[in-house]
Amino acid sequence: MAEARIKRLEDFSTLVSLSKRRGFVFQSSEIYGGLGSCWDFGPLGSLMKANVKRAWWNAMTRRSDICGIDAAILMHPTVWKASGHVDGFSDPLVDCKDCKTRFRSDNTESYLHEKKCCNCGSKNLSEPRQFNLMFKTHMGPVEDTGAVVYLRPETAQGIFVNFGNCQASTRYKIPFGIAQIGKSFRNEITPGNFIFRTREFEQMEMQFFVKPGSDDQWFETWKDTRMNFYGKFGLRLENLRFHPHGAGELAHYAKAAVDVQYKFPIGWSELEGIHNRSNFDLSQHMKFSGKNLEYFDEVAKEKFIPFVIETAVGCDRLFLAFMADAYREEITVDDKGQEDTRVVMGLHPSIAPIKVAILPLSKKDELTSIAEKLRDDLSEDFDILYDESASIGKRYRRQDEIGTPFCLTVDFDTLNDQAVTIRHRDTMKQERVPIKGLAGYVTSALKNF
Ligand code: ATP
Repeated sequence: MAEARIKRLEDFSTLVSLSKRRGFVFQSSEIYGGLGSCWDFGPLGSLMKANVKRAWWNAMTRRSDICGIDAAILMHPTVWKASGHVDGFSDPLVDCKDCKTRFRSDNTESYLHEKKCCNCGSKNLSEPRQFNLMFKTHMGPVEDTGAVVYLRPETAQGIFVNFGNCQASTRYKIPFGIAQIGKSFRNEITPGNFIFRTREFEQMEMQFFVKPGSDDQWFETWKDTRMNFYGKFGLRLENLRFHPHGAGELAHYAKAAVDVQYKFPIGWSELEGIHNRSNFDLSQHMKFSGKNLEYFDEVAKEKFIPFVIETAVGCDRLFLAFMADAYREEITVDDKGQEDTRVVMGLHPSIAPIKVAILPLSKKDELTSIAEKLRDDLSEDFDILYDESASIGKRYRRQDEIGTPFCLTVDFDTLNDQAVTIRHRDTMKQERVPIKGLAGYVTSALKNF
């Protein structure tokens, strides 16, 4: 067969339509016309998202120096005063008085260069005013100002306020970390680009508490650790880079910061932030709560407020990076000059929503009864999809498009040799494997993928 020409993803619209067609991501409340920048993860998307979280969670918490927590979304309102979010978590917003478009003035090219509206080009604009990105709601039945609570705009604060509880209950010694996955909410002025920037999203954050003076070293260690994570789960390294923050870009709490950027179809953009937050957060919570959050080092017999190295990545954004990176079209031309395109989602098998598809060659009972039994047996260990409709070629293509690493075909030979054909997604090679010991075969094939 002729060598295939590979075409990679050029824009998000290809992913948006594939996601809807195959059940990865749907627009929220679609039957009502949708809700701006809110998305629902469908049957395959929810499986894949759980895999993304599991990969991150295991990488963090299956270490002897990191524990996990799952804090509430709603927190005491003073938390957000201490963290600086009530006063400082805002973006500059400009209104166009002609077309009524609202946009962020700090990252809009037409405004920065020519003070023009990004939509209609008008210069009839309001002055920029600070717009707080936190969603407000009320706790309890009375909607007065005393009952205001916020939907958390980041998960980190749930970790800082539990620093003492976690340390006391685990008896971990510094350096140690706390990891968390959870929803965050930001009333973004300009959300968009599919699930890249949304108003409700999930974050995967880890705060690593270290002794002051060792923070620079730990910052470097975490940069390496996080980059290795992406390589391990198959993101192509040429699409990843570090972007260090210059003095002007640093957040109020940060001593140093670097973004892990991914080369999305919209250009290089932040995937993860790695920050040296100094002792800012614990000091602020000591000040506002009146509680002592110092750490006592029993060996050195000294007290200190730990420094924090933070790694923070959006789960949805990483999901998007995995999809964008994995998508490829393999274009081949046959002897007669006919072009054929195979769409493959080359996901790492740990991330792929379905590990094995079970495909009986015909709908005859003698084959489907074996195939159904295989489905039930393998489902105990793996996410399986069963498909008996359409030609086998079509069924293979369906699986390629959703990234299934292995297709397992039950055919008439199976009745004699008690074996099945396993077809590999990337090479399309096929091999005959005995039914006995199949689960073990799949486990090791997934491991050695
Ligand atoms: P930006 O400057 O792009 O608004 P940020 O630097 O404020 O983002 P962080 O607060 O460092 O972002 O958040 C950590 C991670 O959470 C980001 O790297 C990103 O992956 C994710 N994230 C932040 N905001 C959003 C959002 N609105 N939608 C989806 N993911 C987000």
